Amino acid sequence: MTLPDPDGASPVMAQWFALKAEHPEALLFLRMGDFYELFFDDAAAAAGALDIALTARGRHDGQPIAMCGVPVAAAGPYLARLIRRGFRVAIAEQTERPSARQKGPLGRAVVRLVTAGTLTEDELLEASRPNLLLALVASGDPATLGAAWIDVSTGLFETERLPASATDELLGRLDPAEILAAPDLELGDFASKRAPLAAVPPPLAARQRLADAFKVASLDALGSFTDAEAMAAAAALDYVRRTQAGRLPRLSRPASATTQATLGIDPATRASLELLAARDGGTALSLYGAMARTLSAAGGRALAGWIAAPLTDIAAIAARQDGWTWLAAEPERARALREALRGAPDIARALARLSLGRGAPRDLAALRDGLACAKAAAEAIAADSLPAILAEAGHRLLQAQPLARRLTAALAAALPTRLEEGGVIAPGFDGELDAERALCTDSRRTVAGMQNDYAQALGVASLKIRHHAQLGYVIEVPTTAAARLSSQPGVVLRQGTASLARLSTEPLADLDRRIAEAQERAMSRERLVWDSLVDAALAEPSLAAIAETLSLLDVLQSAAARASDGRWCRAQVDDKAGLILRDCRHPVVEAALPRAQRFTANDCDLAPEHRVMLLTGPNMAGKSTFLRQTALAVILAQAGLPVPAAQAQIGVVDRLFSRVGAADDLARGRSTFMVEMTETAAILNLAGPRSLVVVDEIGRGTATLDGLAIAWAVLEALHSGVRCRAIFATHFHELAQLAGSLPRMRAHTMRVREWKGQVVFQHEVVEGAARRSWGVHVARLAGVPAPVVARAARLLVTLERDHARAAPVMPLFAGAAEPETPSATAALLAAVAALDPDRMSPREALDALYALRAALHDVPVGSGDNALG
Ligand code: ATP
Repeated sequence: MTLPDPDGASPVMAQWFALKAEHPEALLFLRMGDFYELFFDDAAAAAGALDIALTARGRHDGQPIAMCGVPVAAAGPYLARLIRRGFRVAIAEQTERPSARQKGPLGRAVVRLVTAGTLTEDELLEASRPNLLLALVASGDPATLGAAWIDVSTGLFETERLPASATDELLGRLDPAEILAAPDLELGDFASKRAPLAAVPPPLAARQRLADAFKVASLDALGSFTDAEAMAAAAALDYVRRTQAGRLPRLSRPASATTQATLGIDPATRASLELLAARDGGTALSLYGAMARTLSAAGGRALAGWIAAPLTDIAAIAARQDGWTWLAAEPERARALREALRGAPDIARALARLSLGRGAPRDLAALRDGLACAKAAAEAIAADSLPAILAEAGHRLLQAQPLARRLTAALAAALPTRLEEGGVIAPGFDGELDAERALCTDSRRTVAGMQNDYAQALGVASLKIRHHAQLGYVIEVPTTAAARLSSQPGVVLRQGTASLARLSTEPLADLDRRIAEAQERAMSRERLVWDSLVDAALAEPSLAAIAETLSLLDVLQSAAARASDGRWCRAQVDDKAGLILRDCRHPVVEAALPRAQRFTANDCDLAPEHRVMLLTGPNMAGKSTFLRQTALAVILAQAGLPVPAAQAQIGVVDRLFSRVGAADDLARGRSTFMVEMTETAAILNLAGPRSLVVVDEIGRGTATLDGLAIAWAVLEALHSGVRCRAIFATHFHELAQLAGSLPRMRAHTMRVREWKGQVVFQHEVVEGAARRSWGVHVARLAGVPAPVVARAARLLVTLERDHARAAPVMPLFAGAAEPETPSATAALLAAVAALDPDRMSPREALDALYALRAALHDVPVGSGDNALG
């Protein structure tokens, strides 16, 4: 955006230029009375984005100045729309009261820069999602990054060190609202969230800045952070400070999440599994939607966090499971806990607003009510022999009860929306405030008495004494009586309208002054009491932990509720190698099935001796559902949540790869096949023996033989190279014949029944291989016109016959190498390598040559292995 030349600007416009120069990248909301006004290009951009009128106000450089405005009282929704559209907004408020001024414009200053990653207002935030600002910094070695993320709305502050190659995975896990990163750092799908990274302080300065912010002598007191982590954390902190015009919200001490081992899930896997949001963007058809039985916004955020970042630490997983299984076994206590949590206010977000001086009466009330919930929750779970996670929670919940009592005594029962309206502090809490208020009340009583006296003395029954915004207390009489009254001694006409006149007298003006002064004193006393309460709340160290504990209990009760129908189980997560699910279901597909249709539960047995499952079967038979449900079961189990199965044993998975229904990425100029191969490459490069890979239709996007060859090679690589647990779904049912040469692979298929010439999908996974494809049947189901289907059926018969004659598939497999034993070629090469010609006699050399010739006959002709032949 190019700015006009500020020379010759009017005084207000000169102010606009000065403020705009502080935040050139943001739209400047300039406070003008009851409106925020925008000028020049800012106005044009905002008017377009908000669909509001663009007008003009005055001239600059001979041109009209474009202008638009939004009312201050209704600014929230406008701000929300601008932020969602990717704008940043600098809010410049009046810093002077009109009465204190003689000439020139009122003083104005930017009090806040509103950006997507630094929001605090409920109307700008999503209740059940965190709102993270992420900073990514490389220090020295560009292959390693430091990451730090802050949720200004809750005070969360965490860091992590990571290889640069894992950036995608981190972004997918955190889903930040705004990212501070150098322009050369690849952010993939998150590129639009990038915010300019200002100069990052060098390591020592960064450490000192953090230590100062958290009032410790050295950052080491808070934990061990790499230079890059400290730099990222300082960059994030600086940015937050800048957006809040120098203030810092209450933040928890930075914690390094690096040691918190989480299940690796890359962005493609996340998208394919629809963890927190479904493809349509909503949560209803996501895993989160299927699991959420939470009762509070903070509980929703915590559950989303668990699903987004399942654990790999078996003890931590078991601790979570202990929590909800105990609640599931104690329905009465669980019911009492739910009662306590229902509608629990959002303590963390209220606290953040209070710490930024942006708190409203309802924010202090949220702390009061939240602490009451905490007490009730602690009572609900007070029992002997509690699992550790609940015992610790119960203990933490009771820590701030003195503050709770103080807030309960201090806050009025019915609270106004804004502090300025008065009446926030309850009568009886502060003697001085009560005295000031009594003065106001007495004076008002005097006013009422005065009204009676004047009505009688002046002989106007309809005379009223009213408070008027500009005039203060005045006598109001019908215009007809005005002339008579204003001629009375001591009565002054203040204002006349068509129907009534407003008059004043010396005693009334005097009383008005006294009431106004008493009100002002009451107001400032009330503000003083308010500030002391806010200070007490901010000084209470356990509030953040209490908020977190309430959200933890909410997730645990949600899990217990989810598991309560008896069709969900507690997984046994261990360090063994297997993965066995009995009667497992897909929670979202199951819930979406029409009532009349039952979901067919399936077993999945990936014990070490057959850790690779080849799955064939027609389209629409339920392959994708089976693959996804297996991946989801692992996510739920390692998140410590119930699993939709009768039984689950899961040898802890370190990385999960799911490629089911790869989407086209045409926007980035990559074909489906290119996407598929890029993702396949990522799996083969990153998966290890503890990983789980579920893939669908590898090699689908190219010619048949090409595709078959790729699928075959990838299957072999997963089985014998990566050696991970895998489900490999394919329409190349020929691959089932590899079962003979890949000892840890078992072939499975989707059971299909033919009934009166129709296919009936049983959705059941059984051992064996599909004998044929059912594409023509599926085409009929999909409504392809009957003549086309009939023609396709006839063509298929011909093609299959010709294919069988010309290129029987079997020989293709005859040469399948036995990848787990050294191949004949490798043996031959090893034999050659073992020869040492310098030490051999001519006779020995000749014998060796004969031996090699003889060995050559063992190399199968026709396989890709006969390079020497
Ligand atoms: P495609 O290859 O075309 O993607 P698919 O074999 O992967 O097909 P799915 O998408 O998994 O098939 O399932 C198709 C539909 O079948 C689902 O939308 C669901 O309605 C139903 N379905 C799948 N699995 C089951 C099941 N286990 N029980 C009941 N219905 C199921």
